[in-house]
Amino acid sequence: MTLTRDSAHDIAAKLVPKGLAFIGGRFAPALDGATFETINPATGAVIADVAHCGAADVDEAVKAARKAFDSGVWSRAVPEYRKEVMLRLADLVRTHREELAVLESIDSGKTVTDCLHEIGREVSTFFQWYGELADKSFGKVAPTGENALALIVKEPAGVVGLVLPWNFPLLMAAWKMAPALAAGCSVLVKPAKQTPLSVLRLAELAQEAGLPDGVLNVLPGLGETTGQAIGRHPDIDIVSFTGSTEVGGYFLRYAGESNLKVVGLEMGGKSPFIILDDAEINDDLIEHAAMSAFWNGGQNCSANMRQLVDRRRAEEFAHRVTARAQAFLVGDPLDPATNIGAMVTQEHQTRVLGYIARGAAEGARLLTGGGASSPGYFIQPAVFADMTPTMSIAREEIFGPVLGILPVDGMEEALRIACDTDYGLHATVFARDIDRAIHMARRLPCGTVSVNGFSEGYVKTPFGGYKRSGSLARDNGTEAMDQYLQTKTIWFTTAPPSVAR
Ligand code: NAP
Ligand code: MG
Repeated sequence: MTLTRDSAHDIAAKLVPKGLAFIGGRFAPALDGATFETINPATGAVIADVAHCGAADVDEAVKAARKAFDSGVWSRAVPEYRKEVMLRLADLVRTHREELAVLESIDSGKTVTDCLHEIGREVSTFFQWYGELADKSFGKVAPTGENALALIVKEPAGVVGLVLPWNFPLLMAAWKMAPALAAGCSVLVKPAKQTPLSVLRLAELAQEAGLPDGVLNVLPGLGETTGQAIGRHPDIDIVSFTGSTEVGGYFLRYAGESNLKVVGLEMGGKSPFIILDDAEINDDLIEHAAMSAFWNGGQNCSANMRQLVDRRRAEEFAHRVTARAQAFLVGDPLDPATNIGAMVTQEHQTRVLGYIARGAAEGARLLTGGGASSPGYFIQPAVFADMTPTMSIAREEIFGPVLGILPVDGMEEALRIACDTDYGLHATVFARDIDRAIHMARRLPCGTVSVNGFSEGYVKTPFGGYKRSGSLARDNGTEAMDQYLQTKTIWFTTAPPSVAR
């Protein structure tokens, strides 16, 4: 079945979203009865009242998670069992992909097409891939003499708190939940306050897949309360966070002031898209340039909005990328024809519009877009020419549909300007000469460099940031599972055969 505008609206009308916390295998209101509203950014309408978990709810969830962990029902189960449950969850996500996609679309303003792709293909793949990895990860035997046998084994690290952003609600949940569950950990998830609904539905599916009670807990709520309570809880072993650099810093402080839990951080970016002088400016390059900035309405940590273009081709590039930007359809997220949905909140829309106004005031040339439409929080994709490295639109993360063209003279200048940022999440390089592309890829201080195409990689490849874009922790790939595992050495002192019984 393929979604149409009518069928998507039909599904949306019939949804009965669950706005309760999921703790120890049960859905329940917050202990003090507190709630918050989640809103449809395409209309401004309230979708549901959702439980606002406080410190007492977080504590209940940690107790349930610890109990499950200590019981060994998941943490010490044979890995084949974890695999089977996770494969069932992957199947359930695939089966329910349209309902989940519509639910996430109305909660976030993301297009239903993107939600369907992310959930039906990627989220399900994450549970499948890490489920498969559960029984294919081997320990090591260290080189020793014959008088010893040294085993290096991996063990689940314990109770893990996952704190999520709103831009890819279910995908970010899967990026972290799948490796943490495959590792055998018990998990608490805090979705962003703007987008709690799809993760709560996922909890129901996880239960249906047979995940034991307490292994997964979902705690909707606000950052300052629910997020902080997770950050400060003395019995959480690891926090993995995706969000802004500012809040990432808070989690380091919370850890320092509580139990020194391990904190893995994936944070903001200001990623460059570099077009060297030998790259051919063709339809393919223009498509990648436009998508790198405008995909998900630019609400993407690895959005390549700083487009560093060889000065001699900057005008031609500007002309073509402007035409492409104008072809994006902005509007009803539930219409599969729509390319860009709504900004996640009115506050965020105002913030992005503020950057567009500042860009123009600072002297960048607005070639197209930048207008808002309502009801709902929409912005037409904006293209700026003549951006300079010191402008605020070139330095600060905008997180909206804004593409800035910054003319550069030669590869070394491109490299210098690309590196002149506190962030280091992603970069794209277009070059025909592969030696120059490799030189750039080696020199760029960021977690992912994408050559001759915009890509964030996939489940198999680690994703994370250098500098203020992240800690050493990586999501995705086998590296993600390492975040949730302890390493233990078991050293046997062995008797030589002559004295052996
Ligand atoms: P955010 O404000 O940092 O929020 C992220 C999460 O932290 C939310 O669940 C939020 O809760 C919580 N939080 C907020 N204040 C907190 C506090 N004082 N204590 C504890 N937790 C707190 O970021 P966002 O606005 O959701 O997302 C946008 C940011 O995420 C951008 O900077 C983007 O670059 C980054 N991002 C990075 C990646 C990556 O992989 N590197 C991926 C996606 C997004 P509430 O919002 O519910 O209150
Ligand atoms: Mg919402």
